Amino acid sequence: MKVVVFSAKPYDRVFLTEAARATGHELVFVEATLTADSAVLADAAQAVCVFVNDHGDAAVLEKLAGMGVRLVALRCAGFNNIDLQAARRLGLTVARVPAYSPHAVAEHTLALILALNRNIHRAFNRVREGNFALDGLLGFDLHGKTAGIVGTGQIGAITAGILQGFGCTVIAHDVHENPDCVARGIAYVSREELFARSDVISLHCPLTPQTHHMIDADAIRRMKRGVMIVNTSRGAVIDTRAVLAGLKAGIIGRLALDVYEEEGDLFFEDLSNNIIGDDVFARLLTFPNVLITGHQAFFTKEALGNIAETTLANIDAFARTGEPMHRVSVEKIAD
Ligand code: NAD
Repeated sequence: MKVVVFSAKPYDRVFLTEAARATGHELVFVEATLTADSAVLADAAQAVCVFVNDHGDAAVLEKLAGMGVRLVALRCAGFNNIDLQAARRLGLTVARVPAYSPHAVAEHTLALILALNRNIHRAFNRVREGNFALDGLLGFDLHGKTAGIVGTGQIGAITAGILQGFGCTVIAHDVHENPDCVARGIAYVSREELFARSDVISLHCPLTPQTHHMIDADAIRRMKRGVMIVNTSRGAVIDTRAVLAGLKAGIIGRLALDVYEEEGDLFFEDLSNNIIGDDVFARLLTFPNVLITGHQAFFTKEALGNIAETTLANIDAFARTGEPMHRVSVEKIAD
């Protein structure tokens, strides 16, 4: 099967080519993000392989289906960028990689929490400048603090376990309780109670209409003064303007982001020679108590290997049977 891989980076080529070696499928790598304009690059392909910031709205899917594409293989877990209703209407099959390394994302979450709390991002620069003053680097003991986890699926549950290892009291909010978390003594509470009690709030739910802008002005008003908020899930779970106001008011004491609601125009590219046109993002970068990484939580050798293998398994199963290993469908989401 011919597969056009959109948003292809050098590391995608390495891992996907290796995984495709034994399958005989032809991979064509293009650097372009999938959009209504670039969809034409999938001409004569039966499948496209896409990532988190590729566009999968109805207009794009219509173009793909019109050219004969039958499979959209996401090489990520989240699928909020694909219009599943449109895909079903057009007879397009959508597949994803439901799990590749929840440890990668959970460990990055802890890296952000620890670095931000102890100001490692500032200390690194200071020491290199010969500035060994400690003023402004004051952190807090994680031990004994309350950490609130929103979404205790694969990543949230592992993050919760690591935080328990640090001696945190972990509370959680989810639409479904995870029995493993309950067994480990994690109490499930309402969203409002989690916001009110947590010293650290870590977001691990998917982006859905219910979680869109979950962290808004109203939620921030309920939080403890000085709270740390960490988002490694999807950018739009946070209302960035409300968070900016919360930072300026001192309610949010620390903010760590691996995702940003308008990241599609920024992340995964070297823009160091460009002027950043997004004033909200640019303002975030000015705060000493904000730490941002560019959607790299998943980025480990193990995760990339697993993503490539599962993506090729989806493509291969679809080519042989018409059904990928891990289909995403409107019906399944409604479960
Ligand atoms: P998962 O499906 O295993 O867990 C998600 C959890 O969120 C589930 O327990 C679900 O019940 C819960 N949830 C759903 N709606 C909710 C709501 N309204 N309120 C509270 N909880 C809700 O997913 P996962 O593998 O743990 O991944 C979580 C998210 O992390 C993904 O959806 C994805 O957006 C994000 N992610 C980010 C990266 C990264 O590199 N930054 C990598 C992988 C995944």
